[in-house]
Amino acid sequence: MANFTISVIHGDGIGPEVCAEGVRALQAVGQRCGHAFTFKEYLAGGAAIDATGVPLPDASIKGVKDSHALLFGAIGGPKWEAMPHHLKPEAGLLKLRKELGAFANLRPALVYDELLDASSIKPEVLKGTDIMVVRELTGGIYFGPGGITGDGAHRVGINTEVYSVAEIERIARVAFEAARLRRKKLCSVDKANVLVSSQLWREVVIAMGKAQYPDVQLSHMYVDNCAMQLIRDPRQFDVIVTTNIFGDILSDEASQLTGSIGMLASASVGGPVGFFEPIHGSAPDIAGQQKANPLATIGTVALLLRYGLKLEAEAQLVEKAIRQVLKDGLRTGDIKQPGCTILGTRAMGDAVVERLRTVA
Ligand code: NAD
Repeated sequence: MANFTISVIHGDGIGPEVCAEGVRALQAVGQRCGHAFTFKEYLAGGAAIDATGVPLPDASIKGVKDSHALLFGAIGGPKWEAMPHHLKPEAGLLKLRKELGAFANLRPALVYDELLDASSIKPEVLKGTDIMVVRELTGGIYFGPGGITGDGAHRVGINTEVYSVAEIERIARVAFEAARLRRKKLCSVDKANVLVSSQLWREVVIAMGKAQYPDVQLSHMYVDNCAMQLIRDPRQFDVIVTTNIFGDILSDEASQLTGSIGMLASASVGGPVGFFEPIHGSAPDIAGQQKANPLATIGTVALLLRYGLKLEAEAQLVEKAIRQVLKDGLRTGDIKQPGCTILGTRAMGDAVVERLRTVA
């Protein structure tokens, strides 16, 4: 029996609808497995602007830092688009990520048999795909020295890829550990044939693999080849670890193998408190209509259990319950298929909770 405090930021648009189902799934896990979850709600994004005038009140930062993990819905919407840059909902999200020091972004791309037809890739290529992309989130070319110098037609734009040994080691450690919880295969993606920063990256990853993770099968791939291999034969991958910019692109590519944004979860970890959110936005076009698919958020709850609270068996229960609702032919509108039953957000949440009580 353990007690956990979970911060919840519902956010805007469909955020409150999907977060409510994530919370119910966690409560069901708690009841089944004997854990006590205390939920504390905080504001961020448009909801925070409306209530306090700023997109991330200090009370939210403090509250989240005092908890074991953060479950986040989504923020933003047309109502706040005209706000000055530093007061936009997105500014609150970026500040929160920075405050939490989450340097590792984990994005699973899992293709469910029941949804094979949802992707634009052939089902026979996709069947069985289950990839985790681990992206470095706080370093590399997005944060290295740069700027625009010179005048007029002679201006030069510069960005610099910078990685220290310590930065490479800490992201590689997250990836090796993730691989140990999965099929024990790690592919490190770089551009070591051209970039010296990638040469250091590769050297450090190889040394760590040999010294600390001999049980994980380590391979290396250039990023251009990886972009191609993800489409050609995605099943060859288990965990991919890569830099900020390469991960930005490859994680979007990998997520599209699954075909539906309403199914995709993510975790940002590495700091003292993990940040868990579905990858979709606030979907203002369907907000408040009970049309949103809550499975991305419920899948996010599985990541929260696995990487935030180290409760692997509980994470697997949630994943099994998601598989079971799909097997039982239940769908939300975004993943609808002929012959299946279409449910709203709450009813889909109910279906998962029901299976969480019984699934073996
Ligand atoms: P979006 O992800 O909100 O929506 C894109 C499309 O996918 C829409 O048609 C939407 O209805 C659909 N969709 C998204 N989630 C769904 C779900 N769970 N179930 C069913 N359908 C779903 O992206 P957008 O329209 O580009 O952005 C809308 C707002 O969200 C913007 O203000 C944007 O800045 C914000 N946003 C926030 C985050 C975040 O909070 N992390 C991420 C992306 C976008």
